[in-house]
Amino acid sequence: TPTPRTDVFASLNAAQARAVRSNAATVAILAGPGSGKTHTLTSRVVYLVDTLGYQPQDVIVATFTVKAAREMTERMGKALGNGREKKIVLGTFHSVARRYLAAYGQRIGLNQKFGIADDGDSRAIIARICKRLQLTVDPPMARGWISKKKSKGTELSTPVDAKKAATVKGAQMQELETLYQEYQDHLERSNLLDYDDLLVKCVELLRKHPSCVANVQAVLIDEYQDTNGVQYELMKLFAQARHRITIVGDPDQSIYGWRSAEIRNLHRMLEEYPKTDQVALEENYRSSQSILDLSLTVIQQDTKRYKKVLRPIHNRGSRPVLRRLRTSAALSRHIEHALGKAGMAYKMVGGFKFYERMEIKVLLDYLRVIHQPENNDALGRIINVPKRGIGDVTVKALIEEAEKSSMSLYNLLDKHCRGDRIAKTKIMKVAEQKISGDLLRLIRNTRKRVEEISQGTPFGLVEMIEYVLTQLKFEQFITATYAEDHETRWANVQEFIGLAADFVKDLDKLGDDSLPEIDGLQQSKEMDVLPKFLSNVALASDVLKDGDAEQNKPLVTISTIHAAKGLEWPVVFVPSAYNGSIPHVRAEDLDEERRLLYVAMTRAKTLLYLSCPLYGSIHGSGGEKQELSPFLSPVAKFFARKGPCFDRPVMSEVARILQRTLPPDETIYKSIPPMTMTDDDLFPEDPEEVAREVRKAGNATEGFAYDDRRPKRPRLY
Ligand code: ATP
Ligand code: MG
Repeated sequence: TPTPRTDVFASLNAAQARAVRSNAATVAILAGPGSGKTHTLTSRVVYLVDTLGYQPQDVIVATFTVKAAREMTERMGKALGNGREKKIVLGTFHSVARRYLAAYGQRIGLNQKFGIADDGDSRAIIARICKRLQLTVDPPMARGWISKKKSKGTELSTPVDAKKAATVKGAQMQELETLYQEYQDHLERSNLLDYDDLLVKCVELLRKHPSCVANVQAVLIDEYQDTNGVQYELMKLFAQARHRITIVGDPDQSIYGWRSAEIRNLHRMLEEYPKTDQVALEENYRSSQSILDLSLTVIQQDTKRYKKVLRPIHNRGSRPVLRRLRTSAALSRHIEHALGKAGMAYKMVGGFKFYERMEIKVLLDYLRVIHQPENNDALGRIINVPKRGIGDVTVKALIEEAEKSSMSLYNLLDKHCRGDRIAKTKIMKVAEQKISGDLLRLIRNTRKRVEEISQGTPFGLVEMIEYVLTQLKFEQFITATYAEDHETRWANVQEFIGLAADFVKDLDKLGDDSLPEIDGLQQSKEMDVLPKFLSNVALASDVLKDGDAEQNKPLVTISTIHAAKGLEWPVVFVPSAYNGSIPHVRAEDLDEERRLLYVAMTRAKTLLYLSCPLYGSIHGSGGEKQELSPFLSPVAKFFARKGPCFDRPVMSEVARILQRTLPPDETIYKSIPPMTMTDDDLFPEDPEEVAREVRKAGNATEGFAYDDRRPKRPRLY
């Protein structure tokens, strides 16, 4: 029996309903956190498809994170039924762009088998070029510069940008330009697109071939305030056939300026589409009155912001708590440790990425080489992993020769193995040639078996991964390499196989995600599942392994604030509300740092717990004395409980609250530092009182947050 469809329209308030049913071509919903923007956007899609009869495949929806995309698909599924939601072109800007490029990219000369260079790849490529050309620029800075250049779109940069750019002068500018060129050449040779390229190339495609989007009826964008120049351009191009655009966003939650997001895209939109129907949503369904009051007091310190009304509709839960604590709990591993000791399951979001674990990375690199033998970076990394006796010197020489001769490492290796004359320099010893012959054979054989699929041989993604693992004797390799934690690492590999299996299952369920054929123009079909899987992995930057959580156990989510955007939890901890963390010491834009805190605070439904260490910092529990975040100092009166708490490390307190409040099956969210400034005796000896309030309010779950801007070393707030 089919499950009954939910009626999304029944739960809408008047303003939401108006936005959902608006007849205007362009609709802008600008409203505060928790006011149901995402809910309204989802309902509008349902309205367009179900009531107005748009074909789901003619509707494009861009979300900010993969998680948001999933949640939205799920909700639409319940409302639409018949699996129609699966046809909607829904995903992050990057994943939607990838789909267009996979389908029609050949029209702009893109090799259909392109791969995606993720953050790690880009970093490595740039570092290598800098070294080879002996450039003096700082590689991470150079990478940021290149990315900014790409993500600007076609618009002129703002005066602020111009001023910033002006600090890069003369010789340095020349180095940057050389590097940019070399980097781009390298990507092209390896048939790779980096994240920015996905968007830039898609812009190029849609400008030259508007027919690719001729069928598009409507374009809807969530978290609009964090779109950058290229994404704005892309939005318009997606909608170029009918100019039907719905955007939802909140300028107060713009937290990606450091990654070229442009708040002024909002004004641009309203100028370019003056007939836009603007809808304000004024009720906050998420946070209790006290949490909302506190959050608003923080954001209102920004006097330049555009003021909006936001009214709470419930007052369930405890008033926010602010604690000043002796120890710093700013490192995620402290939190992990405390949760582990308390026997509580948790999961991590942002920061430590599952796909960046060494054992997974190696495996992924094999798959990437199998997909694209010309991927020099991936091949360079695995040529001697597991160790097969190709000397480091040889590997280095090979990579250099490949780069010098603009040849793919794979072909070069092949030539050496065959003793081809082109390989004049005697880079490889005979033994090494033989060994790399084995590697090449593994790649070739796997590819061959993939091609045989079409002849009915069952060799799917999972079989392929298992084949590679066996051929490589991967388990033995893990055991030998990681004496201490090989079991965990092998379990990760197993989990990876599980993810691949799920992916295949999903594909079967969702069907082919390729786009329709247009105007009789041929579209390239992505036949095999491997490239789809690989791009899914490359674009799933915010999706993580669920810690060691056993099923049905409560789950605490440890997340960066950035990755927590758009989401909500009953209980939220923010454990490092000190000056230097929020705002960050190196932050350039204080207003954006304040907005970041606002985003963190407004994730909470019933309990918001902020803390600030008295001493110590994210770098450890050294002697630095810390001050409370200046964003919080003027708002002490809003806290129910405050006061120093020297006897108890924050994390054990967090764990105690969580133990008392968590019902099974719930996700916990984030922690920002609690802070307290006075000796007020309001804080109870025992967190039981807080817990009781939270329990009364119903579902309690919570989490933590740290910053994701320095992915190597996550910073906990
Ligand atoms: P953010 O700015 O943080 O992204 P948002 O404006 O997108 O927030 P939603 O996530 O859509 O807000 O909604 C917040 C919560 O309020 C959700 O749990 C949603 O289900 C609920 N909600 C939204 N509208 C209504 C409504 N009319 N009645 C009851 N609950 C609602
Ligand atoms: Mg939202």
